[in-house]
Amino acid sequence: MSRESGLSVTVLTTAEQIALSSGGGMWTTKAVGPVPSLLLVDGPNGLRVSTSETDVLGGPTRPATCFPPAVGLAQTWDTDLVGRVGRALGREARVAGVDVLLGPGVNIKRDPRAGRNFEYYSEDPLLTGMLGAAYVGGVQSQGVGCALKHFAAYNAEHDRMRQSSEVDPRTLHEIYLRAFERIVRAAHPWLVMCSYNRLNGTPVAQHHGLLTEVLRDQWGFDGVVVSDWGAVTDRIASLEAGLDLAMPGSGGAADARVSTAVREGRLAPAVVARAAGRVAELAGKAKAAGARGDYDEVVDYDDHHRLAREVAGRGIVLLRNEGDLLPLPGHRPIAVIGQLAVRPRFQGGGSSHVNPTRVDLPLDELCRLTRADVAYSPGYALDGGGDTRTLRAEAAGQAARSDTAVVFLGLGVEHEAEGGDRGDLDLPIDQIELLRAVSAAQPRTVVVLMHGGLARLAPVVACAPAVLDAALTGQAAGGAVADVLLGRVNPSGRLTETVPARLSDVPAFLNFPGSDQTVLYGERHYVGYRWYDARDLSVTFPFGHGLSYTTFDYSDLVLTAATDGITVSVTVTNTGARAGREVLQVYAGPLVSRVDRAPHELGAFACVDLDVGESRRVETRVDRADLAYWDVRVDRWVVESGDYEVAVGASSRDLRLAGRVMVEGDSVTTVLTSESTLAEALAHPTAGPVVRRLVEQVFGGHGADGSGMGVDLMKYIASIPIGRLASASGDDARDGGLRARILAAIGADGAPK
Ligand code: BGC
Repeated sequence: MSRESGLSVTVLTTAEQIALSSGGGMWTTKAVGPVPSLLLVDGPNGLRVSTSETDVLGGPTRPATCFPPAVGLAQTWDTDLVGRVGRALGREARVAGVDVLLGPGVNIKRDPRAGRNFEYYSEDPLLTGMLGAAYVGGVQSQGVGCALKHFAAYNAEHDRMRQSSEVDPRTLHEIYLRAFERIVRAAHPWLVMCSYNRLNGTPVAQHHGLLTEVLRDQWGFDGVVVSDWGAVTDRIASLEAGLDLAMPGSGGAADARVSTAVREGRLAPAVVARAAGRVAELAGKAKAAGARGDYDEVVDYDDHHRLAREVAGRGIVLLRNEGDLLPLPGHRPIAVIGQLAVRPRFQGGGSSHVNPTRVDLPLDELCRLTRADVAYSPGYALDGGGDTRTLRAEAAGQAARSDTAVVFLGLGVEHEAEGGDRGDLDLPIDQIELLRAVSAAQPRTVVVLMHGGLARLAPVVACAPAVLDAALTGQAAGGAVADVLLGRVNPSGRLTETVPARLSDVPAFLNFPGSDQTVLYGERHYVGYRWYDARDLSVTFPFGHGLSYTTFDYSDLVLTAATDGITVSVTVTNTGARAGREVLQVYAGPLVSRVDRAPHELGAFACVDLDVGESRRVETRVDRADLAYWDVRVDRWVVESGDYEVAVGASSRDLRLAGRVMVEGDSVTTVLTSESTLAEALAHPTAGPVVRRLVEQVFGGHGADGSGMGVDLMKYIASIPIGRLASASGDDARDGGLRARILAAIGADGAPK
């Protein structure tokens, strides 16, 4: 059964096999016969090794490096860096005896109000998939498994254990499954964790289509499907659907029910053996990796803290920098305002909450790294205490006496965490009022934002000439923010989500979070920039946006179509006065499509480090698979033939160069029936030319408006199903028996009954 370990479950009794397919405790599987117990822990941005067996949320955990949560990590757009974080996490896990890390979370940020968005990478599936694959590769290189989660269409916290996500197949594949597919195919996670919700009415934990047909049969996944904690309500249905491991343990009651079902012939023993075999194989893989001893067995926590700082700095996005206010000059007095400067928000709340090895405070790090005088003023009280007017007046006074004010604003854990969504996107009103008072007193005002989910930034942009978006930075918050403020790090973070101008502009505005246990994905595949760009809505900051302390120029775009995709090469030049990094983005889309598609989609990206004045030829590729759409006629990915527009630039709205290239598409042969329209018959690759000749014989003389009805006759009849052509003309003979002749030509039979 178990390939790597030689652990065979065929020697186990059925009862023992059943025992293997559910947890032993909160975080462990059972040791059964030759199969050892496994330790699975959260994840994803640091280890949550519980020091108490009963911990669910909030219990004590061992200190671990708290790397930036997915929101901050993703803003780096840097797969190498994400891979390094994965390796560091893998090392910490191995040393702590952890076999499986419960992450990464790769759900798409469908709506900015979703409470767990900080745990996810992006509104875009390509970016999510590339970063998620790098993370899995990094962790698993250390002999620790990843549980890719939460599979699938789990995009809100509202009623998360019961709600049914109503998603059409095309949207499901193109947006909500695409990152999972990329990661499963490219990085082979050892586990996939199924989500709590229902999908189109069926609990995901019992969804055979998802857990077996898509995941295993289509994508070739050969690992363990584990449940989210407490997602299983019917073990028998789940086992049959393809779930292997129900977590956490249930104290044996559910195992007994499965046993009875096998005894009574309601569940095939082979189903139980299959799940047990996969868990045994996982155990074998984990223990074999552990025994090999070819991994780094020591953890240098200082080194990991340095890595956390490097990543956090790379993830900070310079949203705005009017008059080159940043970086701060090293010698003129700075007013640091806002309690977040001494109590930074650097991670999210819930199952991913890490007990950090240490925390750098922005105020301390700024003071340490600058020769300038730094004065601190709290400005607001995060816990709501204090006299707001006095705090605000003090802060404004301090700002006026300094050369520059740096104001820390953000969302608290009470606004966003696992288990709840937000009702709006607003920053706390006392913080906005503070900013207004400070910027009125000091025009040189810089805002630093700390938050997990998106915030509406129009009121911030209205008063702050410079804005840094730190999102969630992890434990090295202070150092990373100080590095960017002072120019020790030239910012290169890019937004992974569009910042909308208004809540009412967001794609799922009317369909979020759902009610009566149902949420309709009515915006379909128009998620994030696909929606804003298709509708040409103004946004506060577009997807992919991020400035630098230097500037970049693009030239000489060359596009080449090849069998594996479109090769894109372009020269990028650093035209400013500092070394810096550009994140080159490639967007692509067909000029004409048979279905409605977004104007363009991210097809590739690359980080390019350039010295002052340096030029580099950058070559990247839009993979053929990423040009495809999900064709519901044939239930598979299809690349359409035709010209594609490919643009390169610095955000979805800042496209600097574009070109066109012809792509030879996939052939799709659909079966024509009497219910196929004349247009479909005409477009058919083999029957089309024959049908065209027949139609021309009958209607050849009629051009546009040759019908005498004020219509273009061809257009008019194109939408008529072939079998009903006679009813359109009222008489088979009148149109020369066209219906019968077309039906014969396409080999279909059947007049309307
Ligand atoms: C979360 C998962 C987490 C699990 C174990 C669940 O509530 O949805 O992301 O891995 O708990 O803590």
